Amino acid sequence: MTDELLGKQIGGCEIVELVGRGGMAVVYRAHQISMNRRPVAIKILPRQMLNDETYMQRFLREVHILAQLEHRNIVPVHDYGEFEGQPFIVMRYMDGGSVDDLIRRSGRLTLAQMRDFVTQIAPALDYAHLKNVLHRDLKPSNILLDDDGGAYLTDFGIARLMGDAYSGMGAVTTHGVIGTPSYMSPEQAQGKPLDGRSDVYALGVTLFEMATGARPFEGDTPYSIAVLQVTAPPPPPRSLNSALPPSVERVILKAMSKRADDRYPTAAALAEALTLAITHPEAAALSETQPSPAINLMDTQPGLRRSDLLPPSNAGPPPAGAGERQPTPPQTPPPVVTGYVPPPSYPAAMSAVRPRKRRGSLLTSALIGAVIGCALLTLVAALAALAITALTTESPTAAPSPEGTDTAVQPTMTPLPSASVPTRTPLGALTLEPTEIDGGVEPIGVRPTATGLIGYGSVVFFADRGGNFDLYRLDLTTRLETRLTSDAASDIYGAVSPDGGRVAFQSDRDGDFDIYVMDIDGAGVTRLTDNTVNDRIPAWTPDGEHILFSSDTRGDGTHDLMQVRPDAGDLQLIYSDGERNSHARASDDGRYIIFTSGRPDDAATWDIKRLDVTTNEVITLTQNNVKDWSASFTPEGDILYMTDGAGYGAVARMEIDGGNARILYDGAGYEWSAQEHPQGTGILFNSDISGRDELFLMDLDGTNVRPVTTDGGAYGWWLS
Ligand code: ADP
Ligand code: MG
Repeated sequence: MTDELLGKQIGGCEIVELVGRGGMAVVYRAHQISMNRRPVAIKILPRQMLNDETYMQRFLREVHILAQLEHRNIVPVHDYGEFEGQPFIVMRYMDGGSVDDLIRRSGRLTLAQMRDFVTQIAPALDYAHLKNVLHRDLKPSNILLDDDGGAYLTDFGIARLMGDAYSGMGAVTTHGVIGTPSYMSPEQAQGKPLDGRSDVYALGVTLFEMATGARPFEGDTPYSIAVLQVTAPPPPPRSLNSALPPSVERVILKAMSKRADDRYPTAAALAEALTLAITHPEAAALSETQPSPAINLMDTQPGLRRSDLLPPSNAGPPPAGAGERQPTPPQTPPPVVTGYVPPPSYPAAMSAVRPRKRRGSLLTSALIGAVIGCALLTLVAALAALAITALTTESPTAAPSPEGTDTAVQPTMTPLPSASVPTRTPLGALTLEPTEIDGGVEPIGVRPTATGLIGYGSVVFFADRGGNFDLYRLDLTTRLETRLTSDAASDIYGAVSPDGGRVAFQSDRDGDFDIYVMDIDGAGVTRLTDNTVNDRIPAWTPDGEHILFSSDTRGDGTHDLMQVRPDAGDLQLIYSDGERNSHARASDDGRYIIFTSGRPDDAATWDIKRLDVTTNEVITLTQNNVKDWSASFTPEGDILYMTDGAGYGAVARMEIDGGNARILYDGAGYEWSAQEHPQGTGILFNSDISGRDELFLMDLDGTNVRPVTTDGGAYGWWLS
């Protein structure tokens, strides 16, 4: 039982009662405290399912897909997050129950109800198809109602993006068919490629059940039902409900055609035909000789004119541009989503299959069952092969000299101007207790389970996914990855502006590194500096007015700190002492700039320095003889930085004046680039433990390290 959650607070909502238990999740009614205690539904993956990769992936897939869908007739999602490791979704509470409840209460639905529900759900379904999402589990229990008569599509738990790497095997898992056999299209039951017409079939079966109170196919096992979907004609609905108009029966049977080509091309076309069949049965009969009727649903009110029913001469696919009614889109992935990687295996969810016996088994064809079984096995083998290929084709790439690995020429030693250096214990002399690897760092090739990443927002990072470094954005909750640059040059060190709207980065598009800025979605790339030396590692000032960066002004490896406005104006020198000064970050109050400083030829002695812009005083925060570098401010005003103080690249923390310096995490790899989440909920950093840089997230105390990327990722910057 998961009723341990009753009375608890999850994501700012107080759990009131259990309202539903589906194939994988439990759903509670709750009050959202910040929103005047409005009622909400919380769908949460039960604790005992957390270690089950299948359910975890299924649940996260649902979050990922819901994040892309916003439609009047899709249950709106308010929020999602994670509660003690359990992912949850906060949705609008539907107080009218499901269409399944309604059928069970009243035996069957009236023509008016059928028309009402189908005309509401159809546009939602076509909209999802337009977004390249197949529902794959449409049925009366996944249509929820509010008390205003609104009908809403829900439960995208097994929905799938069309055109993703496994589209051809949409219905196949390593264990069997996924979905609910009673509503499953023949092509889905056979694991064939699917398009929107598979959901149209399920809508047809749903309509069958609304009209008759029974399901067309029953069997002793889910398997035998799936076989009937492929082989047996459905019983005529009028044999179960003689009051049903023949015109409506024809619509149901057409929607349930075994061949997708014989069905309505879209859900809207089905809804239109149903409306016509109910309101004007004779006209419907007449129009059935024509290709799918093309009329506007708005016009099918009582005052419908005969002329409205005549389809245009080019009728066929539904009319384009008629509201949400669009033809089924081609199977191409959404344009900006470039890197969403489905898990290598997407195993069984047969427990989602919950057949209800209403009538005796009609027919169970063991022979055909065996044939389908063989087809499934073949596909399972192919799927496994694909997964293995995916794991073994990753090519290691070298990092583009992250700060700390480049050794430059010609030492230029200039004394530090006006440095008042406070005395403190050097970090190297502290008793450092290197934190053990927390067991969270996974070896190469393991895909992220995404555990422990929900609710952290997004990060911008760079990675080499095919020849050179580009910038990417990854939503940690939905795992949706967007490629921001695809230039042949190295686009690296992305820094997100304080308002989250832009990214500054460095790129060597003209042969040497310059500072660039672009919109957060990768549009509007603008070059801010133009010279023949390297300008590197940008960061925004807290007011978003300037971008700090370092420049190899003299072309000798020493670097000065500079700033420029995001419109390329106001280029200024901020700090120069003839050393290698870089990686500047400004404090939230704008008073301090911290940076890495040292001799270009001796990275082993770099330190973190702090410039007080009000007094121009510079102090060294890490006074020791080890390498300290890449500092950043935490939201609490402390400083995270990298140190070799315990060996080889570790994440450390100190106070604004250098006090209380301690190592948070020292893994077996080379750690660099740490940034605390703006809400102080974790620290993002890099490690090359697997042989190349990957992003990791850990708790503030350096424990609970979990992978964020597994196919490359460096220099993550929070976007939250
Ligand atoms: P599953 O994927 O486990 O089938 P569903 O999303 O279908 O989960 O939810 C299971 C049940 O919980 C539904 O059939 C319904 O009774 C109830 N339910 C789900 N979402 C809501 C909601 N937003 N409001 C009210 N009840 C809901
Ligand atoms: Mg459900």
